[in-house]
Amino acid sequence: MSIVSKPSASKIEAPKRLDLRAAIGGGIFEYAPAPESVRPEIADQYGLFIGGEFIEPISGNHFASMNPATEDTLAMVADASSADVDRAVQAARDALPAWAGLSGKNRGKYMYRIARRMQERARELAVLETLDGGKPIKESRDVDVPLAAAHFFYHAGWADKLKYALPGRDPKPVGVCGQIIPWNFPLMMLSWKIAPALACGNTVVLKPAETTSLTALRFAQICQEIGLPKGVVNIVTGAGETGKAMVEHRGIDKIAFTGSTVVGKAIAKTVASTKKKLTLELGGKSANIIFEDASLDQAIEGIIEGIYFNQGHVCCAGSRLFVQESILDRVVDKLTDRMSTLRVGDPMDKNTDVGAINSKEQLDTIERFLATGENEGATKHDVCPSTLPEKGYWCKPCFYTGVQPSHTIAREEIFGPVLAVLSFRTPDEAISRANNSPYGLAAGVWTDKGSKIFDVAKKLDAGIVWLNTYNKFDPTSPFGGYKESGFGREGGRHGLLAYCQ
Ligand code: NAP
Ligand code: MG
Repeated sequence: MSIVSKPSASKIEAPKRLDLRAAIGGGIFEYAPAPESVRPEIADQYGLFIGGEFIEPISGNHFASMNPATEDTLAMVADASSADVDRAVQAARDALPAWAGLSGKNRGKYMYRIARRMQERARELAVLETLDGGKPIKESRDVDVPLAAAHFFYHAGWADKLKYALPGRDPKPVGVCGQIIPWNFPLMMLSWKIAPALACGNTVVLKPAETTSLTALRFAQICQEIGLPKGVVNIVTGAGETGKAMVEHRGIDKIAFTGSTVVGKAIAKTVASTKKKLTLELGGKSANIIFEDASLDQAIEGIIEGIYFNQGHVCCAGSRLFVQESILDRVVDKLTDRMSTLRVGDPMDKNTDVGAINSKEQLDTIERFLATGENEGATKHDVCPSTLPEKGYWCKPCFYTGVQPSHTIAREEIFGPVLAVLSFRTPDEAISRANNSPYGLAAGVWTDKGSKIFDVAKKLDAGIVWLNTYNKFDPTSPFGGYKESGFGREGGRHGLLAYCQ
């Protein structure tokens, strides 16, 4: 089976076998080899996945996808032009009548096969995700890949029950869906997009982010392996221009975008004058609120999980911590203690808590925010003891105290392992401070009192509110934002609405 386009020997160097331990200045720790030590098969060069085949882009251009922990090139990936997007949309259009005409039960069978294949290849997908994106293997292994498979299982179950999900209607697919995703949860975002679309009888053209295309391309192989009808899923790799070509394409019936608020606003303007349907999952600056009666040790774990999970590259990260004034000093002390145990380094090491920053560009952005934090008068707490590797892109997790609500680090999305700590006195003050943000994606509330939980939660402008926990995701639960965090929901019964007429 041909799974990739042939490498052109003149342009492409074979990827070097990665010695991650050496790359992070290893030799300090010796571990027994783990199953994750095996390097998955990565082709030298990948084509575009259109009409069920890997084909060369019309321009013949490719770009490098690198490992941000080592700066090594992993593979060359095809750069799709608007003409390639055209081909992918046509393939999706051609496949639409047969896929939409299939019974829900049979669509579900294909989706169960995808889900099971993802589980069978879970280790390979996890290693690939970690190599290409820089996230710790324990996260890709225990969170990203299991949740991606769970989204396919869940939506496979809906495929033949749509009339129960949307009672009183005769649900029809929207048509060809253009889906654009970011680099922070590449495989998980892919499944959040593709699974509901397929369940409802749509066909898709999906663009992964430029820095993290490899698991999407491995997913394309899975579509081949399970015999998914050709053209139902098409993957076009490329940068922002490829996404723009999709947004402007007249043959696409719906755009589903996850990414930054800036790009989301531009997409909304382009789509406004057309008949396209649109859902936007955008940025956030979420509040994690700790009341004085909370179980503090649990809350500290929630703070760590909230902001340092996935290097803080999380749209719903609890990046603004609001602590009741009476316990502020204790929380800062406990947080300092806990952070002194966090390990930054080799993402392939199972003991690593914070891996590599996804790209040089993102690291530069985070560093600009760090400088602003200190210039505006906040105090930086640099308490993580790890020594950073010389190669790769790294940022030690840190937090700031003395932060004012007007400070840049309290207002703008940093998308890195940086926490702004603020305080409040009363529940009303906590609510008004938490809501003082252009974003409205998520929030966390920590208290021992059930009545306070629900009273505060219902007054927060946030699409998701976690109570005495944080960053919990489940395919049965709708996810999405308010205000500048976007509109539309992914997951749950609500998520199906976006993919039905
Ligand atoms: P981004 O720059 O907006 O990119 C997102 C995707 O859009 C990428 O595939 C990107 O391609 C593509 N793109 C860039 N310019 C485009 C344009 N003009 N037209 C169409 N597509 C375009 O965001 P990011 O930096 O990758 O991701 C981080 C952001 O995503 C954060 O703001 C985060 O909060 C948000 N996010 C939100 C959610 C949610 O559910 N609300 C979930 C995850 C992430 P290239 O990357 O190849 O340039
Ligand atoms: Mg990469």
